[in-house]
Amino acid sequence: MTAEIMVQADQVIANTYKRFPVVFLNGTGCTLYDTDGRSYTDFVAGIAVCNLGHSHAKLTEALCSQAQNLWHVSNLYYTKPQVELAAWLVAKSFADRVFFCNSGAEANEAAIKLARKFFKDRGENKRFKIIAMEQSFHGRTMATLSATGQEKIKKGFAPVLEGFDFVPFDDAEALRAQIGQEHCAVLIEPIQGEGGVRCPNSDYLKTVREICDESGTLLIFDEIQTGMGRTGKLFAYEHFGVKPDIMTLAKALANGLPIGAMLAKEKVAAAFGTGTHASTFGGTPIVTAAALEVCRTFDAEDVIDQARETGVYFRGKLLELKERHPVIVDVRGLGLLLGMKLNFSGETLVTQCMQKGFLINCIQGDILRFIPPLIIKKEKIDALIDCLDQLLTDRSAKSL
Ligand code: PLP
Repeated sequence: MTAEIMVQADQVIANTYKRFPVVFLNGTGCTLYDTDGRSYTDFVAGIAVCNLGHSHAKLTEALCSQAQNLWHVSNLYYTKPQVELAAWLVAKSFADRVFFCNSGAEANEAAIKLARKFFKDRGENKRFKIIAMEQSFHGRTMATLSATGQEKIKKGFAPVLEGFDFVPFDDAEALRAQIGQEHCAVLIEPIQGEGGVRCPNSDYLKTVREICDESGTLLIFDEIQTGMGRTGKLFAYEHFGVKPDIMTLAKALANGLPIGAMLAKEKVAAAFGTGTHASTFGGTPIVTAAALEVCRTFDAEDVIDQARETGVYFRGKLLELKERHPVIVDVRGLGLLLGMKLNFSGETLVTQCMQKGFLINCIQGDILRFIPPLIIKKEKIDALIDCLDQLLTDRSAKSL
């Protein structure tokens, strides 16, 4: 069956993904099972999506219960799960209002539109440009790839949208030199995910906030990868003592159902009046009921504190590995968003780990990224570290 599915996929599915030769059938907690009955410990979690793991009992119950009542109605009407989810996000964040959509790219689209509209409403028609960061990633739609600071993402799609300037990440002076009265917003990931798990210096985001305030520019945090507990706090901005004007979420918000959210302060959100923006599926009951259960689980269990503690443990183990293997040039990240930079291409290690029953991910060619469910246990981390240790030892023995 496995081979058949892969052969058919290659015939009928758009060829946009480079896939590993495995077909997954089911999962539970931090373990996935393929069609041949093999099990894998999941250090990818759907790319920072399944923060509470697979087949979570309470999430499944909430989803089934909502499915028996109401899947979808238009945003022409009110529904309870959508309102309760928005209220939870508002209570737990800097924001006053939430706009729901279906993905990270859509949440960033909404943020870009809102920042432009905010200044248009004030009659500042020339203030529409956005400063984004080199190496950033904000999505694959035309506006969000235009806001992305990686040429490989834009290749073949020119002309991209006008109105985006780029400065190096973690360089406040470069931002200060670039920012002007033509900029409506600065768009930034508090920690760059796809760009290589790059953390800024401790004061950088505070300085970015100051620069935005001095020039009257809005600050947008893209927390699509870093949000919902991934870094050991509900939102990564909490580590840095800085609040944005707008924030985007997606990925882990509904633990695997498609959702995006754009959160904003009242004075900014007011620019999105009736009829200015919309989404058919945005905030639909079936998805928001699942997201609400994620939030309730965070309230009821200390998942995020545990993730912070497990992250410290995991990082320590990666640093020990670095001591033993000079091919590891850097270990970085926060909470359970961790990266390990190698001095060689990481693709083979990813495949080898998979053969040994561990799913890990490689970004930017030479950075292994570890983004397991937040409920990962230390024993599973130890097992992965042993596996990597052995593979790196074998590799160095071969190259002698
Ligand atoms: N922003 C960040 C920081 C991301 O990591 C991603 C996806 O990896 C996106 C935006 C785009 O999200 P989506 O794939 O849901 O459109």
